[in-house]
Amino acid sequence: MKALAERVKSGQFLYMTELVASGLKREAQVLEIASKLAMIPEIAAGSITSYAGGQLGQDSIRVGTAVRARGLVPNVHLTCVGQDRATIDKTLAQLGALEMHNIFAISGDWPKAAVRTAVFDIDSVQLAAHIADLRARSGTPFFISCAVSPFKYQREDCLYQYLKLEKKIAAGAEMAITQVGWDATKFVELKKYLDERGIKTPVLGNVYVLSRRAAERMNTGNPPGCWASDELVAILKKESEAPDGGLQARLERGARSIAVLKGIGYAGAYIGGTHDANQIRWMIRRAEELAPKWEELYEELQFGKKDGFYLYKRDPQPKPTRTFLPTVMDAAGTTLPFVPWAKTTKESSVKRMIAGAFRWLDRHPMLSHWFERFEFYSKKEVFGCQNCGNCVLGSMEYVCPQTCPKQMRNGPCGGTFHGACEVIDQECIWVKVMARAEASNTINQLKLFIPPPDRALTGTASWLNFYLGRDSRPGRPKDLWRSGGPGRTVEIDQDVKLQTAGPSAADQALAARQAKAAPAKAGAAGGAGKAGEAGKPAEKMRQAG
Ligand code: SF4
Repeated sequence: MKALAERVKSGQFLYMTELVASGLKREAQVLEIASKLAMIPEIAAGSITSYAGGQLGQDSIRVGTAVRARGLVPNVHLTCVGQDRATIDKTLAQLGALEMHNIFAISGDWPKAAVRTAVFDIDSVQLAAHIADLRARSGTPFFISCAVSPFKYQREDCLYQYLKLEKKIAAGAEMAITQVGWDATKFVELKKYLDERGIKTPVLGNVYVLSRRAAERMNTGNPPGCWASDELVAILKKESEAPDGGLQARLERGARSIAVLKGIGYAGAYIGGTHDANQIRWMIRRAEELAPKWEELYEELQFGKKDGFYLYKRDPQPKPTRTFLPTVMDAAGTTLPFVPWAKTTKESSVKRMIAGAFRWLDRHPMLSHWFERFEFYSKKEVFGCQNCGNCVLGSMEYVCPQTCPKQMRNGPCGGTFHGACEVIDQECIWVKVMARAEASNTINQLKLFIPPPDRALTGTASWLNFYLGRDSRPGRPKDLWRSGGPGRTVEIDQDVKLQTAGPSAADQALAARQAKAAPAKAGAAGGAGKAGEAGKPAEKMRQAG
């Protein structure tokens, strides 16, 4: 078995197949599939999902080990769902010990089972950065892949996907894999974006063998981040009337997509939607035949959004303009460079004076409590502050990261549906962040890495933490990994409409975990006299370490 990193380095067009280790599919079945796929020499690895579509599946490490024993190189999906830093560290230690070095580091879909709660302690950029850090420290040769979706047709959403990819690469990701999509112009767009910036990171294009049923679901944005256009759905409907139910047409489309990806200059294809080794082998062979006429096929693979955003085409969507709040905040940050949201990190005598006053305040619990209440209420209405204690408003165009259900701090996940949040009925918060940055020509500042927050500071005054150097922020990250930084259960405001539903075993496990943590939290909150006292759901952010 050749290591995936070596295969990628060789520059030869490679294939990766997705193995959905879902709870529905018996493990024996997955392993039988792996044995057959291992016989196809072009396949460099089998990518083992975890939490695909928000469903808790089989243990991807166990499946990965068994897959490897059957001769197929595993690429294990590691998501940020349901895992705090300590759990992720444990998983990485296991992967290292088992010499399973290929990791697909992703945010992950919101767990379908979680009606109101889920654990999202870190985001995918922070995850990639941590694995890269671990690689440097321990010498474990982890090979990190990350996800990107060029198939975003809302202006800011799309721009942020590309910017976030740059962040992931800067953090240590060595390969990117696209989300599913059937729009060759978008495949080219991503490639051109990277080429223009001199980024040589290999990208695998997603080739999903799409059935009529799956297309109809994707047409409504399900699973999150996957979208199929009306035109594509109509074609698939027609194809499904064939005696074989449209199978041959689906495989042909897959082979044509591979040929196009090869022609564009992608490093390989990531095949999903079929596990059948014969079908995959056929598509690979057929793609070779079709490769010389890829440009013709390129014109056929155009199932984008007609009025959607394309970076290198005339943009039908109006460019954002500067709004009042960021203008005022920026002006205040420039005039008073010592405020917590100022862009400069320079030390100054004023900053030292304020720090001295806050040290005194910090020694008086009652006073610091009232100060925390003052800060919280002054920010709550304007920014939706949730008292995280590690304020990064200044690095996020004055949009609070805690208003993102997944608590991302470095950009959007891939789950948006035309700019709307995957989890709750709201616009993705990152649309606003990007729009504000674009309006003020500061998009490049969004490339700043924002470290995971110190969750132990939840419910404390972030301004105090800032001046006393206690918080975790860009340029001053706290290493909370080795000490097993506490995780957090994210609770969604009951007033907002959830797009996910359906209790399951995972939900029950989470609920049990919460119930267990509740008495401890109540004690802690009582002692501190801060966290959770407002009693509103959105404020009930709790430790779930
Ligand atoms: S302190 Fe945390 S929760 Fe409050 S506005 Fe700042 S980032 Fe958001």
